[in-house]
Amino acid sequence: MESAKRYSIAYKGLKNGNHEFDFKVDDTFFEAMENIDIKGGDCNVHVTMNRAETMLELDFQIEGYVVCECDRCLEDCKVPVEYEGELLVKFSEEIREYDGEVMWISLADGEVSLAQYIYESIVLSLPYSRVHEEGECNPDMLARFTTIDEEADEELED
Ligand SMILES: [Zn+2]
Repeated sequence: MESAKRYSIAYKGLKNGNHEFDFKVDDTFFEAMENIDIKGGDCNVHVTMNRAETMLELDFQIEGYVVCECDRCLEDCKVPVEYEGELLVKFSEEIREYDGEVMWISLADGEVSLAQYIYESIVLSLPYSRVHEEGECNPDMLARFTTIDEEADEELED
């Protein structure tokens, strides 16, 4: 997958200590992830990486928005994204399962792909309810739902 390459950090040859990276997440990123709930978005991902002998410590700051369907009017709405988190990438010849906090890779890999982590972090940071701000829903759509609701009520009463 192309986004795996685009969101990678090549640690081979980097000195021990802090390094900074910036990534941009856009519509093509979410398209590649094939998430039906997220239609697109625009986020800045800032990573501060501390490279040590046996592991990488990655601090993430993600800011921007994603486009979801509004729960109230079903039109597209922008949902703000604000995420801060840490990921440890440990070097080991024995590769263990990624558990959401520690990723295991072989030192020989030379680079680590962060696409999956970035994607999951954005998804987890989203609120349960995704709606427009008060008054910004499409009034035509709202009116249509209200009418349907009333008709359904009347049928129930008969
Ligand atoms: Zn809405």
